[in-house]
Amino acid sequence: MHESARIAADLRAMLGADAVLTEPEDLARYEAGWRYGAGKALAAARPGTTAEISKLMAYCQARGLRVMPQGANTGLVGASNPDASGEMLVLSLERLNKRLEVDPVNRTALVDGGVLLSSLNEALAPHGLLFPIDLGADPTLGGMIATNTGGTRLLKYGDVRHNLQGLEVVLPDGTVVDALNRLRKNNTGLDLKQLFVGTSGIYGVITGAVVQVVPVPRQQATALVGCVSGEAVLALLQSLERDLADVFTAFEVISANALGPVFTHHPDLRNPYGTGQPPAYTALVELSSTLPGAALDLAGVLEERLGAFVEGEAGEGLTDVFMGKPDEFWALRHHISESLRSEGKVLAFDISVPRSRMAAFTEAAVALLAEAYPFIRACDFGHWGDGGTHLNLVWREADAPRPTAEVVAELQTRIYDLAVRGFEGSYSAEHGVGPHNQRFYDAYTPAPVKAVNQALKDRLDPDRLLGTTRLD
Ligand SMILES: Cc1cc2nc3c(=O)[nH]c(=O)nc-3n(C[C@H](O)[C@H](O)[C@H](O)COP(=O)(O)OP(=O)(O)OC[C@H]3O[C@@H](n4cnc5c(N)ncnc54)[C@H](O)[C@@H]3O)c2cc1C
Repeated sequence: MHESARIAADLRAMLGADAVLTEPEDLARYEAGWRYGAGKALAAARPGTTAEISKLMAYCQARGLRVMPQGANTGLVGASNPDASGEMLVLSLERLNKRLEVDPVNRTALVDGGVLLSSLNEALAPHGLLFPIDLGADPTLGGMIATNTGGTRLLKYGDVRHNLQGLEVVLPDGTVVDALNRLRKNNTGLDLKQLFVGTSGIYGVITGAVVQVVPVPRQQATALVGCVSGEAVLALLQSLERDLADVFTAFEVISANALGPVFTHHPDLRNPYGTGQPPAYTALVELSSTLPGAALDLAGVLEERLGAFVEGEAGEGLTDVFMGKPDEFWALRHHISESLRSEGKVLAFDISVPRSRMAAFTEAAVALLAEAYPFIRACDFGHWGDGGTHLNLVWREADAPRPTAEVVAELQTRIYDLAVRGFEGSYSAEHGVGPHNQRFYDAYTPAPVKAVNQALKDRLDPDRLLGTTRLD
């Protein structure tokens, strides 16, 4: 029997026939990533319990079989797909989704690693609770932990790391580590779970988690605020935090170049600027509260404070204030990426810099483009409240003097150098490392950090069988 057929037969005997896929048409959806990543899998295994994953990992280690853990495959750096060798086994967590226990008194939920974010929130809703990481995809909890997902409300709730209490992990040799901590306070040594947060699943397979959850806000209030410059955006952010920190939930900033295409391609969405030009930046401000409207007029508070800012010191930098429904304004934010794709080639950067340097960084990037790449538009938008920006560069390929691949490679080096070396920033604010960012990890990570990762990997996965991301 051929080696791959032998492995498939062994896995079927271990997990059940329908848990193992080998046909090319069945494997296709595990092989290609959402944005990057396209490989070839030996097979896909879909175990349904931690015990099965433990057996599977021990089997793979004994045979030297390389494994790619995969959740909902919504990651954006190609880290969830097998490489091109055809020798990697995809370990899909999609069937590991049975444990979902809500504990309203402790305000936690115990979940299997393959539980989807939407399923968790459905189970929490009857208790008036919510897992507060909010994004435009429906990932698994295991995948969210492995990528330390941040969301649009990170300003208030933090990222996954901040809301994670405990983990269950299967190590590459099959050992099950039960660190499903049920205590909010537990200072008893190494906080082991952190090793698996944001490390792309290369130290172990996350099979369970205890997450902290929050009460669903009873009301939200949103406004769009026009700002003449990046500095005006930062002044507005400080005013909002000073006066409204208790209820300040989100601060998303959209440049005129990113907002214009949304209005062009979605004339059905509310355009508060009408036929006028949007200013340099538009900030989407959201407040939320668990207090009912009868106790706190949140929209009134927001309108009054923004009015006061316009009249006050920061007012010079503000052009407009529009109050509106949350859905209406968030729809603008959520249609940006797809609207930009209708405009031409898009090169997306997921960058962070210290918040204080957001305006200066963006200006420097725009100046670099104007000087060396006049055919490119910077269409930036993002989570300025957390120092994160999705600097999207858009151009018509026919206008470029050089092939797209050349332009992309040059720009990646120049923009990341600017962010990391020029502005103390990160080349990956929230999406992780993965093959897409591997060469930048290699270039920018200090040798002692790599050495610590190497020691961990040598101990836990000496044959480098798990994942394709390298942190050593
Ligand atoms: C439309 C869209 C919007 C997004 N918006 C945001 C955003 O606002 N903020 C943000 O931070 N991210 C965002 N993301 C990316 C986000 O990181 C991923 O959606 C998600 O966190 C990955 O979860 P997943 O289950 O899809 O994992 P996958 O994509 O399947 O895997 C991601 C990584 O985790 C590993 N992994 C998966 N499951 C496990 C497991 N159980 N054990 C060990 N390793 C595992 C994989 O090997 C891979 O390295 C967005 C993605 C999309 C498509």
